[in-house]
Amino acid sequence: MTTQSPTVALLGAVMFAAERHRNQRRKDAEATPYINHPIALAHLLAPPGGIADVTLLQAAILHDTIEDTETTAAELSARFGDDVTRIVLEVTDDKTLPKPRRKQLQIEHAPHKSRGAALVKLADKTCNLLDVASSPPADWPLSRRQAYFDWAKQVVDALPRVNDALLSAFDQAYAARP
Ligand code: ZN
Repeated sequence: MTTQSPTVALLGAVMFAAERHRNQRRKDAEATPYINHPIALAHLLAPPGGIADVTLLQAAILHDTIEDTETTAAELSARFGDDVTRIVLEVTDDKTLPKPRRKQLQIEHAPHKSRGAALVKLADKTCNLLDVASSPPADWPLSRRQAYFDWAKQVVDALPRVNDALLSAFDQAYAARP
């Protein structure tokens, strides 16, 4: 971890996430490969967000590996270190809870997020709104798409204010509310 160059460390995270998400697809009608989502998220943090910290970018790439694959926190710690793992854990929902409760908890926990977790969360919600606006899941009626936008905004409004450029990227995405 520490002996690698930042570029190699970041590519290692991309490789790992691509391997873990390899059989997953996004919910859009075209079933886009899942890995496109974490890559888009990290890319949003980098140019508009101005984030060059490799720990944060690795956490962005890996942010769904614990929640959506068999990956454990211990495994991430061993490969990418505790700082990356802490951020990933902070943005990981407890999947033993029913979905409405998980969504409510995202709003309630938002004010207590660390800077790193708040950045990843903000970029995650922005990317998801862009996806729902441009290529929504085929079975989502208008009301569900609208509810998704409103919930994402509630989460983002409750986050600590960490990055104005990213916040305007979110506002721009939210402006396309169906
Ligand atoms: Zn995500």
